[in-house]
Amino acid sequence: MIKEIRTRFAPSPTGYMHIGNLRTALYAYLYAKSNNGKFILRIEDTDAERYVEGAVEIILSTLKKVGMDYDEGPIVGGPYGPYVQSQRKNEYMKYALQLVEKGEAYYCFCDKERLENLPDVNGARKYDKHCLHLSKEEIKAKLDAGVPFVIRQNMPAEGKTKYHDMVFGDIEIDNSELEDNILIKSDGMPTYNFANVIDDHLMNITVVIRGQEYLSSTPKYNLLYKAFGWEQPLYMHLPPIMKDAQHKLSKRNGDASFEDLLKKGFLTEAIVNYIALLGWSPKGNEEKLSMQELKETFSIEGISKSQSIFDEQKLRWLNGRYIKELPFDQFVKLATPYLDQSKVAGKYDYAKLCKLVQSRIDTLSDIAGLVDFLEEFDKFDGELYFNKKLKTDAAVAKRVLPHVIQKLSALTQWDETSIHDALIGLVAELEVKNGIVLWPTRVAISGKASTPGGATELADLLGKEETLRRLDFAIGLLQ
Ligand code: GLU
Repeated sequence: MIKEIRTRFAPSPTGYMHIGNLRTALYAYLYAKSNNGKFILRIEDTDAERYVEGAVEIILSTLKKVGMDYDEGPIVGGPYGPYVQSQRKNEYMKYALQLVEKGEAYYCFCDKERLENLPDVNGARKYDKHCLHLSKEEIKAKLDAGVPFVIRQNMPAEGKTKYHDMVFGDIEIDNSELEDNILIKSDGMPTYNFANVIDDHLMNITVVIRGQEYLSSTPKYNLLYKAFGWEQPLYMHLPPIMKDAQHKLSKRNGDASFEDLLKKGFLTEAIVNYIALLGWSPKGNEEKLSMQELKETFSIEGISKSQSIFDEQKLRWLNGRYIKELPFDQFVKLATPYLDQSKVAGKYDYAKLCKLVQSRIDTLSDIAGLVDFLEEFDKFDGELYFNKKLKTDAAVAKRVLPHVIQKLSALTQWDETSIHDALIGLVAELEVKNGIVLWPTRVAISGKASTPGGATELADLLGKEETLRRLDFAIGLLQ
């Protein structure tokens, strides 16, 4: 019988969602879902010193936001719970003692001083198996006396350990390179090295998907499976996501987390879509893929062995596509907080502003830069009137703008239709092309070479009084 595919995402609660971790989660999710399998969430919080308040909530809310619904995990529960390592504390010791019993692990009572003075072997300080040779009586005496201890894995001194990685192929390591890892720390808590194996086994995980940093430690974990006589899972390690060829994405530069990207005005769907492409390529040419499409098309053949570079320009491009395709109401909802943060906060008809900007931005943060001119208006260069194709320049503006003032000030009704009719009426009267009137008007009332929307829309937004004031000011500048 083919075993059910069960993958897991096992984040440590760090307080933010690193892009690399989110991609690991995504691939584990997609791999499970594209194989009719289950996706499990496990919180790896055994490192009490690194505990961050609210960090678990960030993991849960991120997964929810991006639409990765886990089949088993905290809150939803499942048959192999609890899914939070600190709540499984007692399990680990039980299993460590089984290994001690079998001679595959041993108590180590060495103090800090002894450990710090171990000789260097090939540049690294390696534990010398000192406590492996303690007699049963010595161990009992120390335990009875309450001497602090850790439990170490008893690595074979010789031979090789091999395994097959689904991305990287065959991996082999000389056992002599392996240190006798600590499995249980002196506070009774397991190390990651131990807990991940116990939990993956107890939670029936069949495919372990995680970052490449664990590729070379995996032989150690496989030796644990062997020591217990358990079946090993399959492994899929993923190459890192880089900022550039040399540097990883880093939290410190504000470019590493999902939250950072949201703050920069990227949409959740676009971020998920983009990170899916960081290390995996779809078969077809289309790169804009919804979660549903990703679930349908994801396959291991598309995963690359080489590291991928996070290209913010490409994310911007993809995000722009998502923004343009958003239903208008939804765009208004997403844009509102950004308008509230801009110079136009609380002013103007937001729906009108949104209509102007939706097709012109790549991220929500671009909004402010496009609309700020509505509130910011000062001296500008007469060069802005120059447009070769439309045959306009400052001289044309100087001639046309007084007519524009006249026409617009005569309006009793101020809306797009009336403004449009007045300007087009002027075009007819002057017997010129539209651009000869519209371009100078738009420049005069915005002070910008390019704006979202044309003269009519801008005048409508600004209102009659402000439009006339700006026209007047602009004419003054031309004198
Ligand atoms: N807790 C580990 C981490 O956050 C997980 C590694 C794994 O997936 O096994 O890096």
